[in-house]
Amino acid sequence: MGSIAAPIFWYNISHMETKLTIDTSRVDPEGETIEGEVDCVDLDEPFVKPFGGVRYVLQIQVFGSEFLVRGRLEQDFDLVCSRCGKDFDDTIKVEDFTASFEISEDSPEVDLTEELRESIILALPTYPVCDETCPGVEQTVEMPSDDRWNVLDSLNKQGERENGKS
Ligand SMILES: [Zn+2]
Repeated sequence: MGSIAAPIFWYNISHMETKLTIDTSRVDPEGETIEGEVDCVDLDEPFVKPFGGVRYVLQIQVFGSEFLVRGRLEQDFDLVCSRCGKDFDDTIKVEDFTASFEISEDSPEVDLTEELRESIILALPTYPVCDETCPGVEQTVEMPSDDRWNVLDSLNKQGERENGKS
């Protein structure tokens, strides 16, 4: 057995890191910074798959009956490029996360989970692109031929057939 005591965090990541709840009655009146990871983006989309949890660094402070939170969030995703259709990994970042909650002595517990989740989902690109220079699928697949060429082509074939007969 090691002799290093596990650090005791007063803020509670309950249910195995799927929730971030904070007891605001124990927040330093001067404010403080918390950081960690919480697995709360449970999207079930074929083209958008989160992996790992939301990594957060948050500045938290209580002002009277208000609890203020701001900071940075990050979540890794396995996305599908909207141009070429390939899978790629990307880290979605929220640099200016803010949230505020009304609190009272009766209910000092605040659950930040839903705010974290929503903020990450809103930051997802509508059309993910593996790379800004991604040429898309057109240049890797042969372009369908123009109708006019099809017509000429079939005329040629017809001619060949007729010539072959004679
Ligand atoms: Zn691409």
